Amino acid sequence: RIYLDHAAAMPIHPEVLRFGNRFLAGFAGNPSTIYREGLAAEEAVSRAREEVAALIGASDPASVIFTSGATESNNIAVRGTALRNMKRGKRVVTSTIEHISVLNPAKVLLKKGFAVTEVPVDRYGTIDLGALEEAVTPETVVTSVHYANNEIGTIEPIREVAEIVHARGGFLHVDATDAAGRVPINVERAGIDLATLSSNQLGGPQGMGALYIRPGVRVQPVLVGGGQERGLRPGTEDVFGIACMGEAARLAAKEMPEESRRLAAIRDRLIAGITDIEEAYLTGHPTERLPHHASFRFSRIEGESIQLAMNMLGIAVATGSACTSRTLEASHVLLAIGLAHEEAHGSMVATLGRENRADEAPRVVDAVRETVKRLRAITPL
Ligand code: PLP
Repeated sequence: RIYLDHAAAMPIHPEVLRFGNRFLAGFAGNPSTIYREGLAAEEAVSRAREEVAALIGASDPASVIFTSGATESNNIAVRGTALRNMKRGKRVVTSTIEHISVLNPAKVLLKKGFAVTEVPVDRYGTIDLGALEEAVTPETVVTSVHYANNEIGTIEPIREVAEIVHARGGFLHVDATDAAGRVPINVERAGIDLATLSSNQLGGPQGMGALYIRPGVRVQPVLVGGGQERGLRPGTEDVFGIACMGEAARLAAKEMPEESRRLAAIRDRLIAGITDIEEAYLTGHPTERLPHHASFRFSRIEGESIQLAMNMLGIAVATGSACTSRTLEASHVLLAIGLAHEEAHGSMVATLGRENRADEAPRVVDAVRETVKRLRAITPL
């Protein structure tokens, strides 16, 4: 079995698994209490906060809050920041290829009287900086642009985006779900005001995430209750999940340089081999892309058929985003980079991870070649 859908779900890092087993065997109290068991839990949460902050170059660990995942972080960042700061203006800007967990919260703001602008991208998925300059006005409270796209792997020019946003006095939120732990991120040097992270994308458990909020940026909670996580994420902490995410962040920071280089070499073999197939094209940016990410489109066949056929050959690949793949709608990302509906339906995404080995690349290329040939022979298209 060859698993190539790490953007959808990552196996837990073996060291996180060992750490988690040890952690669960002990007893973590409630971090809000002040006796020994509670203080130990609070200590575990604090350590995790430090590790996550360190991974993204945040000098103040208190700037990181833990959430239930990237979706919740994106909601707090987009809605919470917009609603808390709407005295400044009622405008929000995103790109056309953000994840739905950014686009949908922005749409909710429409009902509160906000104007939302989706800035276009070019055929590689790189944001149009000229259009961004026009879209962001002094009334724009939040601009949300992801660090990298999960469907096409393109890395955005975040520093340039930050300059444009800050020149007009607004806040920049960056969904770094797919980029964190893959490429070095320094929120302070990049000028990022809020950043979304996912535990699973670092090799930690699913259903766990974090949000970096630069000190001084005021955000309104989306969920209300107790004062946990500075009142921004009330409710008793998932101490186990948080501790494991912290350990995953520590390992990601340590292993990233070597691991990203190793995966990029496999990715490049996949790209070279698969784009050699007739009418097969790379999607996303040829060079400014995530090191573990290879995405393609094939004319005259459907992504779902490719996925099923590859599965029969023992290989798990994605077609578009896991969140929308069951809807059978064309991906908004592929349409936004200029593909026609029928072109957007023929996509295949391979995202690599720790267990993948270089010798799998030729096997995958052969399987894709065989699959494409077989499907084209029976296609009515
Ligand atoms: N943002 C991006 C860029 C993603 O790729 C994903 C999921 O893959 C999410 C947000 C949502 O993450 P979750 O489903 O863990 O909340």
